[in-house]
Amino acid sequence: MDYQINRIEYTKEMAKDYTILVPDMLDVHFMFIQKIMEQEGHRTVLLKNKGRSVIDAGLKYVHNDTCYPALIVIGQFIDALQSGEYDVNKVAVIITQTGGGCRASNYLHLLRKALAKAGFPQIPVISLNVAGLEKNSGFQLTLPVLIKAMAAVVYGDMLMLLRNQVRPYEINEGDAERKRKYWTEKLCEDFTHSKGLTRNEMRENLRQIVKSFAEIPMEKREKIKVGIVGEIFVKYSALANNDLEDFLHEQGCEVNVPGLLGFLTFYIGNKLEEIKIYGGNKVKEFVLEQVRVYLTGIEKIMIDAINEDGTFKAPMPFRKVRELVAPVISYGCDMGEGWLLTAEMIELAEHGYKNIVCAQPFGCLPNHIVGKGMIRKIRELHPDANIVPIDYDPGATKVNQENRIKLMLAVAKENM
Ligand code: SF4
Repeated sequence: MDYQINRIEYTKEMAKDYTILVPDMLDVHFMFIQKIMEQEGHRTVLLKNKGRSVIDAGLKYVHNDTCYPALIVIGQFIDALQSGEYDVNKVAVIITQTGGGCRASNYLHLLRKALAKAGFPQIPVISLNVAGLEKNSGFQLTLPVLIKAMAAVVYGDMLMLLRNQVRPYEINEGDAERKRKYWTEKLCEDFTHSKGLTRNEMRENLRQIVKSFAEIPMEKREKIKVGIVGEIFVKYSALANNDLEDFLHEQGCEVNVPGLLGFLTFYIGNKLEEIKIYGGNKVKEFVLEQVRVYLTGIEKIMIDAINEDGTFKAPMPFRKVRELVAPVISYGCDMGEGWLLTAEMIELAEHGYKNIVCAQPFGCLPNHIVGKGMIRKIRELHPDANIVPIDYDPGATKVNQENRIKLMLAVAKENM
């Protein structure tokens, strides 16, 4: 088939009446992101199409050697565009571009190629990046937008953490999820009025959120504690990991999914490390350092809010997580989720979540090294760590994945 790949810029003119499609990665966090984009004047839709048609569209338009997250994100876009729900001449798609050495930096080009092949060469692809890569005159990441995005990460992490710690013990089924929805809607509304963004407002909101979750009637039940780590998309996206969190909940587990704030801090830290080793722009170094300090500050606000109340278990500060992993893997391992993935497994084991699902996409070499490749080493430190690596790819069946997890849970029950 003949097709041409041109870069179509998303212009200010388009921003007036185009709809931007956002892939389904993190339910809670992306609702906030969607709200922020709407406040900036962009009409957005958070895609929810799922199932075999998404995977088939990915397989049809992306080479099957490509890593699974790329395949499934592109598949979701094309499946949505082919559904007839959108005016394909008034729609754009957005995708993250990390700027790292991994293939994630190149998804953009894969997506453009796939869109052209599927008959949508006119659709602009917006790169969401903070590394100064591709720019679009109609979509800009300004400082106020970045501040709102960081607040979205903290609120999203907090709601995810509390929902997961309450859900297995709630007396009235659905209370935790209802509370999460309530806070998501309230905070999105606050965002519309530029509220909830300063550190003081965040402190107050986070305290209120913890208090309101602590008021949910709960009863003590013995639950298997399971942590989820892995490549960022497969770890968080129910679309990619076949509803892993829900499955574990149905199996009677308490789930712990380390938050996005840690990943952001890891990313900024790596950029600073690169400048230290290879040299670089001093202004950029200064800005990155300010962002790192800001992230550490809001992490402290979040952890303090949980500890002051005392009902729930707070995550470890990033600084501590970084220290924990030092004897095990080099900080130079920064491809994919890098040393952070190994560190999260150790953090979970130390925090009592000794049963761990390590979600690995097919074709993801970096995360096979820092995930599956580090299991033996982690077991030397934590002999009771019960870790199962699960591969996610278009050919892997949900039944097969769930059966492997059930075997891990059988060991967990014995250990209990
Ligand atoms: S981290 Fe893995 S899945 Fe993500 S782009 Fe790199 S190789 Fe692909």
